[in-house]
Amino acid sequence: MEENLEKKLFNKKEDGWETVDEIKKEKILDFSKGYMDFLNRAKTEREFIAEATKMARENGYKDIAEFEKLQAGDKVYFINREKSMYLAIIGTESVENGLHIIGSHVDSPRLDLKPNPLYEDTGLAYFKTHYYGGIKKYQWTTIPLSIHGVIVKPNGDKITVNIGEDENDPIFTITDLLPHLAQEQMEKKLKNGINGEDLNILIGSIPYQDKDAKDKVKLNILNILNQKYGIVEADLQSSELEIIPAFKARSLGFDSSMVAAYGQDDKVCAYTSLVAMMSLENVKNTAVCILSDKEEIGSMGNTGMESHMFDFFISEMLNKLEVNKPNLLDRVFCFSKMLSADVDAGLDPIYASVSDRLNAGFIGKGISINKYTGARGKSGASDANAEYVAWVRNVLEKNEIKYQIAELGKVDVGGGGTIAYILANKGADVIDCGVPVLSMHAPYEVTSKFDVYSAFETYKAFWRE
Ligand code: MN
Ligand code: MN
Repeated sequence: MEENLEKKLFNKKEDGWETVDEIKKEKILDFSKGYMDFLNRAKTEREFIAEATKMARENGYKDIAEFEKLQAGDKVYFINREKSMYLAIIGTESVENGLHIIGSHVDSPRLDLKPNPLYEDTGLAYFKTHYYGGIKKYQWTTIPLSIHGVIVKPNGDKITVNIGEDENDPIFTITDLLPHLAQEQMEKKLKNGINGEDLNILIGSIPYQDKDAKDKVKLNILNILNQKYGIVEADLQSSELEIIPAFKARSLGFDSSMVAAYGQDDKVCAYTSLVAMMSLENVKNTAVCILSDKEEIGSMGNTGMESHMFDFFISEMLNKLEVNKPNLLDRVFCFSKMLSADVDAGLDPIYASVSDRLNAGFIGKGISINKYTGARGKSGASDANAEYVAWVRNVLEKNEIKYQIAELGKVDVGGGGTIAYILANKGADVIDCGVPVLSMHAPYEVTSKFDVYSAFETYKAFWRE
């Protein structure tokens, strides 16, 4: 009988923590401090891009407009309307042989203010919202909320808003019915328990001191907004104000092995790929990092991955490399390799019935790779070729990185998608590759620090290949 036949033949998925020594464990825990710190400064897409720009410049990256010509070793970025960004390091190999792209998204589910949000009812002032992305509405009531974003005046003046994060700031909240009077509400289906139209945030209750004024609480709020930001009610029409949980990113568990934070879908992949890119020096294939916007609502719009802005950036790169010619852009994409860096659903033991244990991503077992996503028979999935899956496996195995190849839930239970298909449609080899998350899309999402580090290692190894 052959010894260790099991070890040789079985694909055994070990717990990541059992595979590391104390030194590596410290490294992993330390890395997550930087991650949590970044999350607290970058809670929205605009804030993420601002922080990423700062980090890029500190590491020698320059705006593509600052370059007349590009050559191997140059570090370059392009910012698309403050909400998405592309970074690249020019490789030594000809770009005709393709790019190595890692693409994540920096937008997360949230509540957006409506264009005419402000009203007063029964002595209380509210902002009306329209939710953004797939949320379970009941999760967004009775938690502390903050407001982030911009208000732009017709003359172009832009006011940045960030209120509810500082300890000295007030916070906001959405109220819910007391259980004593919720008999009817409690009979409803969970998805109908809270109406989208009722996700109104409570913002004030003191009336303006003027006997003759109407809507005195609303007037008082507008007066405060006018003094603080110099705006009038109509200026809210040209604003992008996002209502998000005021929670800080924190270590989770007695062993501090996990991260609890808002917006880890997909800032965990965005952060780890960005930091991996900053660690690169000389690369063979030109390395490209995409931080996209609007993924949570279908990647539409000019800051979403469906737009031509990315093609524009790559074309500009080809121009400044002085190699551009007809059809080169198509050729570059066809020979490119991409990791679509987006989170996976981690198997939740409390809700294990929605997952196939053989094919689920587990918390703490390393980076999770999805050959395909989609729903109802892989619909909408780009489904990576076996040859490319093998190529990616080789990179991971060579670099001794823990990985798991998984799918999102049991057949026909649901499904999802990422930006993978968009680049695959351009001709690139693409596979989904990200961190497994618990409570995805909830105001507070959970990841394992082991997996966060393993994402960083994966992205670094991919670009160094
Ligand atoms: Mn995502
Ligand atoms: Mn998502």
